[in-house]
Amino acid sequence: MNNESRKIKSVRAIEILDSRGNPTVEVQITLNGGSCATASVPSGASTGIHEAHELRDGDMALFGGKGVIKAVNNVNEIIAPAIIGMDATEQEKIDALMLELDGTDNKSRLGANAILAVSIALSRVAARAMGAQLYSYLGRELIKPKLPCPMFNVLNGGAHASNNIDIQEFMIVPHGLGYMEGLRAGSEIYHTLGKILKKRGLSTGVGDEGGYAPNLESDEEAIELLCQAIGDAGYSFSDVGIALDVASSEWFENGKYTLPKRGVTKDYSELIAYYSELSEKYPIISIEDGLAEDDFDGWREMTRALGGRMMLVGDDLFVTNEKRLGMGISKGAGNAILIKPNQIGTLTETLRVIELARQNGYKYIISHRSGDTDDTAIADIAVATCAEFIKSGAPCRAERVAKYNRLLEILHLY
Ligand code: PGA
Ligand code: ZN
Repeated sequence: MNNESRKIKSVRAIEILDSRGNPTVEVQITLNGGSCATASVPSGASTGIHEAHELRDGDMALFGGKGVIKAVNNVNEIIAPAIIGMDATEQEKIDALMLELDGTDNKSRLGANAILAVSIALSRVAARAMGAQLYSYLGRELIKPKLPCPMFNVLNGGAHASNNIDIQEFMIVPHGLGYMEGLRAGSEIYHTLGKILKKRGLSTGVGDEGGYAPNLESDEEAIELLCQAIGDAGYSFSDVGIALDVASSEWFENGKYTLPKRGVTKDYSELIAYYSELSEKYPIISIEDGLAEDDFDGWREMTRALGGRMMLVGDDLFVTNEKRLGMGISKGAGNAILIKPNQIGTLTETLRVIELARQNGYKYIISHRSGDTDDTAIADIAVATCAEFIKSGAPCRAERVAKYNRLLEILHLY
């Protein structure tokens, strides 16, 4: 393969729809040698305030203001002319050039959605031009891939569902099983849970990430239902644990936490005591965003109290940002980070923050967003970086299952 054929010939963005029916950006890149690839970007609902800027048009006449034509035009009119002719394998150089073209701290001029779509499409087309799979192109020293353990969000609440549950995600995690067995366990437990809900006359309609979204007596009842489903499906808690994403930044106001659906107010010490109690009763292996995005005092306290027993995952807290993770490391906040490429906006920065986590003994979980597409890059990123976990929703809804199926494809390549 000569250098001429790896040069970028065209970059074209269009507006497509995500899994919630909202507009998002898709980019197609073609190289002189004929290789061609597309990428599309996801979008969150419970977004952290420190995330890179997702550029939306704000024109209320189109998609209720959620259009992404400005971001699309930024790709076609600003980024494309600047990178056409460059070598597609120069990922870091092209990502850096996009940051320069943007010129802001949070990618608010061009939009993190515009920049990330180019960044991911670029890696995919470069891999294709090299005749490589994306995961092996990104993880160059890999010999045989190790697949991440899926975290299946089987019961949805918070901002992802219109039920009465305040905690956003209740996940089952087959950490004691291999990938194929774990995927089967996820599917079997999910369907068992559906049957339990149906038998009790509860709703089996699903939320944004494919989990069921029934109304329940309490958030704790949701955990009990998961435990029952794990047991009824024939699995043990030593193989399948439970993880929560509290998404508590959504609850935080004036130094206190008000659970919006139940209307109860707590401070961080009370929440830590509540998590501690839950973890004594149930096989909880991980709690994400148990406290809010700027409550570093609370996070330090929570990490001291619970960090030896489980993963304490910073999502809104770290927003896939090296500076934020650096702050967390120095303050002793959390012991794991959620990685969402669209929180930061380039592949290069995503890989760097993963490296920082790895060097400091923080676990990292590669994650989808609640609004997602059929793009499967996160599965490849998880394999390339030897991530222990991936979070891609329930084993239900095509955009969720696409990532789990991509991992199966990778597994079957060997
Ligand atoms: P989001 O939710 O994509 O709506 O931000 C996912 C999460 O909080 O992990
Ligand atoms: Zn989260």
